[in-house]
Amino acid sequence: MQNVNYQKWLDETIAGLGGRAPSLLLHACCAPCSSYVLEYLSEYFNITLFYYNPNISPEAEYRKRRNEAKRLIAEQPAKYPVGFAEGTYAPELFFETVKGHEADPERGERCTLCYRMRLEETAKYARENGFEWFTTTLSLSPYKDARRLNAIGAEMEEKYGVKYLHSDFKKRGGYLRSIELSRVYGLYRQNTCGCIFSQKATPVSPSPSDD
Ligand code: SF4
Repeated sequence: MQNVNYQKWLDETIAGLGGRAPSLLLHACCAPCSSYVLEYLSEYFNITLFYYNPNISPEAEYRKRRNEAKRLIAEQPAKYPVGFAEGTYAPELFFETVKGHEADPERGERCTLCYRMRLEETAKYARENGFEWFTTTLSLSPYKDARRLNAIGAEMEEKYGVKYLHSDFKKRGGYLRSIELSRVYGLYRQNTCGCIFSQKATPVSPSPSDD
């Protein structure tokens, strides 16, 4: 598959905004990943952080990550104030979605289904609530495949009629900056992706294509 420069794509999209700050629904998995993405995008967009992660278990862990994301929004300065919205926490939907793929390795088909579940709900929420753009923080992680995320985002743009912001937030030192910001704000940094299957598995090495 041809390599796409998603950072360049994002630069061009931002340049094309012409100084206007449109609304953006930003799906977020956790506070550390949100920290860099909010620092970066809140210069250009009116952001609402959308915490939709039925993949996370147990519920106490889900709540802990959600509360950290809310605390971060309250403490991190932003040119345009950042709002917060929470989706429905229904872990049974996640288990149904990935049925048959429980034993897949991280970055396998189970993760593709999980990305799709979360991006589809984000696009749907964006349409129902009048957002102009949507995207996700997920590409910040070296364990996440930006090409797959962007392909699903483009498909959801088509389906729901809300613009998807193509991106790969791990570029330009985004991941390292998120580690620095986590120190600054004393953020809880989990060491697994979130589902019970990732907690049982040994994390895979980052792909060279995702550095
Ligand atoms: S490892 Fe992460 S992306 Fe993959 S299915 Fe589990 S929670 Fe979803």
